[in-house]
Amino acid sequence: MFDKVLIANRGEIALRILRACRELGIATVAVHSKVDADLKHVRLADESICIGPNPPGASYLNGPAIISALEVSDAQAVHPGYGFLAENADFAEQVERSGFVFIGPTPEVIRLMGDKVSAIAAMKRAGVPTVPGSDGPLPDDEGEIRRIARAVGYPVIVKAAAGGGGRGMRVVHSEAALLKAVAVTRAEAQAAFGDGTVYLEKFLDHPRHVEIQVLADGRGQAIHLGDRDCSLQRRHQKILEEAPAPGISEEERQAIGELCVRACLEIGYRGAGTFEFLYQDGHFYFIEMNTRIQVEHPVTEMVTGVDLVKEQIRIAAGEPLRLRQEDVVIRGHAVECRINAEDPDTFLPSPGRVSTFHAPGGNGIRVDSHLYCGYTIPPYYDSLVAKIIAHGSDRAEAFARMRNALDELLVEGVKTNAPLHRRLVEDAAVLQGGVDIHYLERRLPR
Ligand code: ADP
Repeated sequence: MFDKVLIANRGEIALRILRACRELGIATVAVHSKVDADLKHVRLADESICIGPNPPGASYLNGPAIISALEVSDAQAVHPGYGFLAENADFAEQVERSGFVFIGPTPEVIRLMGDKVSAIAAMKRAGVPTVPGSDGPLPDDEGEIRRIARAVGYPVIVKAAAGGGGRGMRVVHSEAALLKAVAVTRAEAQAAFGDGTVYLEKFLDHPRHVEIQVLADGRGQAIHLGDRDCSLQRRHQKILEEAPAPGISEEERQAIGELCVRACLEIGYRGAGTFEFLYQDGHFYFIEMNTRIQVEHPVTEMVTGVDLVKEQIRIAAGEPLRLRQEDVVIRGHAVECRINAEDPDTFLPSPGRVSTFHAPGGNGIRVDSHLYCGYTIPPYYDSLVAKIIAHGSDRAEAFARMRNALDELLVEGVKTNAPLHRRLVEDAAVLQGGVDIHYLERRLPR
């Protein structure tokens, strides 16, 4: 096992990683931007190093500064969390070349799955179902683009191969709008990701977002840990997630999970990962793989009892997977609400000083948050400030506990989206389960 791990992230996930390291008896190094010296995990870490100014490009995305921090602190490995450099194959490669361990998959696999076109091709080879589409990048020839879209059938969605975070996507309803949408998405993708490759998929009109969590040791062992439903989204950003996905039978779950396990072995996957699917009319369609820990991982931890972050670290340290598929048992139901510091009506970020913070508690409640009274939320980063997770023996109990938790939560000094969550956990369709990815946006104006 490692003696010392560097945490290359901030906020709640940095604290989550710090807690896992401590449980494993590993010393921690926190790296942070100037304004982040007061982050909770920075205060708790054994060592801390300021790696640069506040803009993420100068600090949390500054690979050379992080590698220097590894060198001066003598840490053996780096945990990238999610976002920032977590899915950056070049960074993972530089970490390895410098003689350190990247807690995640190999750079080759990150690269393969980071490009959505090559990821989809790899999944097809592994026998995982994908969305009907262009079967590779769109060509330049306009007639050919029209022919592909017609064959797929409108509406279609044009997507950037290098896209992420819900950006670089455009829905096209008719041929009249096709070529312009392709050109605009290409230009946007080139500007945002430095890669103008786009592809095209059938736009599914009422899918759910259902994803499969996997763990693989890169030595021939892989398992899945069931599914999560993340259909409640706004602008392709997840708001509320749950496990297991309601209304999906155990046979369906095992079947798709087994396909993901097979795909892991085929591509040589190592670490924790998530296969994201759209699920419509009883069919799964792969859309992308995230080669990192995800924000919503706690709902899986609550229903399986497996600590995914500790497993990531153990795998990176070279330990073979200790769990077998039959060891993974889903117990009860878990739901997570992402609490963002933002205006509940306009969704504009609401940074500032938190004058009061009271975390909810009680049976089955878990709160992953870096907030404390007097902490100032800076304006430079993501607005996620707390994740409330409620676990119950069944779905109704999990939602009842979440309603209590949201009532107990107190955040003063900044605005949060807690009022939106309070409405969602009382919404008849949400409580029924199985709403599609467009449900929240359809409901919001009301
Ligand atoms: P990103 O990497 O930016 O998260 P994804 O490919 O995972 O992009 O897609 C994000 C979201 O966009 C999905 O959860 C879904 O809401 C929507 N989406 C993506 N592809 C399709 C599709 N073919 N049909 C309908 N919605 C889609």
